[in-house]
Amino acid sequence: MYRIPFNRVDWITSSFLIGTALIALIGVPVYLVKFGINWFQFAMFFFYVTATMMSITVGYHRLFSHLSFKAKLPVKFFTLVFGACAFENSCLNWASDHRRHHKHVDHDEDPYDISKGFFWAHIGWLLFKLNPEPPMDNVADLRKDKLVMWQHNYVHWIALVVGIFIPMSLGYLWNHFHGMNAWHGALGAFMLAGIARIVVAQHCTFFINSLCHTVGTQPYSTTHSARDSAVMAFLTFGEGYHNYHHEFQHDYRNGVKPWQWDPSKWTIWTLSKLGLADGLRKVPDSRILLAEMGEARRKAEKHLEEVREKGNAHAHTVLDTLHELVEEMSANYHELEKAVSDRVQLSKEKLDHWQEETRSMLREIRRMSAAAMA
Ligand SMILES: [Zn+2]
Ligand SMILES: [Zn+2]
Repeated sequence: MYRIPFNRVDWITSSFLIGTALIALIGVPVYLVKFGINWFQFAMFFFYVTATMMSITVGYHRLFSHLSFKAKLPVKFFTLVFGACAFENSCLNWASDHRRHHKHVDHDEDPYDISKGFFWAHIGWLLFKLNPEPPMDNVADLRKDKLVMWQHNYVHWIALVVGIFIPMSLGYLWNHFHGMNAWHGALGAFMLAGIARIVVAQHCTFFINSLCHTVGTQPYSTTHSARDSAVMAFLTFGEGYHNYHHEFQHDYRNGVKPWQWDPSKWTIWTLSKLGLADGLRKVPDSRILLAEMGEARRKAEKHLEEVREKGNAHAHTVLDTLHELVEEMSANYHELEKAVSDRVQLSKEKLDHWQEETRSMLREIRRMSAAAMA
């Protein structure tokens, strides 16, 4: 386990993260008990959580860090302004950290390296600063964008004005015009749409670096720690399909299957239909399936190896069948691999059939090897 560098506390960031968390955990319940909540305060909280989180996932992450689509000015402006309200630093800083995360995932230069432990990946990397700060030499493209640089220079002002001052003013005015104490309205907006919203949005983002590298499945690759999880996708506006994302980081989709919960993907798609986004990058279905089949085959081989080495007294009766199944999976994999490299157009039916077959074979292999290991 990595030793936390307690002598390198980043006092400003730490005070902010701990202070906001304490207000959210203690101040907010006290406020709610004393003053209750009205629908306007709730609506502002809901709007701000959604706008902030979506600006991080659609803007900071998929648009600016990965260039997975091109956006028109209003989209860039909105995501940069509400992204700033997340108090997760400027888009330029964020993208630089995130690009290093992908390039060096699970290694020392990964800023939120999960191999240093869950706590480090979640929040430790922000509370403690490693010296020296790595150079931001991987965002030259973003430095050419005037809007990104404007946000970089004024990020804290934007965050304070749009993320705190505006909701407080709206809370003040709403109460004022409804014959209630205006300052209670302002305080409520500060607590809910301000602080509680910041804490929720931040920890949901942090979960992508901690939980999404700890819990879930790895259908596309086991060469990195990233995992797919529907629960995490729900908490993170679709970013929980993190195994897919690390394998195909330039795809605008994280939940690539039609049924997967990915509101950020749906938003980008809708923006493209409205003429506000274009150039949506997608990995071809055949390449995605190739990754899945490759991973399934690796897992099947591992099961076969285990049964061979540590199987019970009856294991020998299933070894031939297991071996045949693994061979068949390999043959399918190589056939698809050749089709992909020869750029053969494969029908959706064919790909679906391969996928179904691979999954049922892997299920069968798992069932048989579990019985042979019992
Ligand atoms: Zn990651
Ligand atoms: Zn990413």
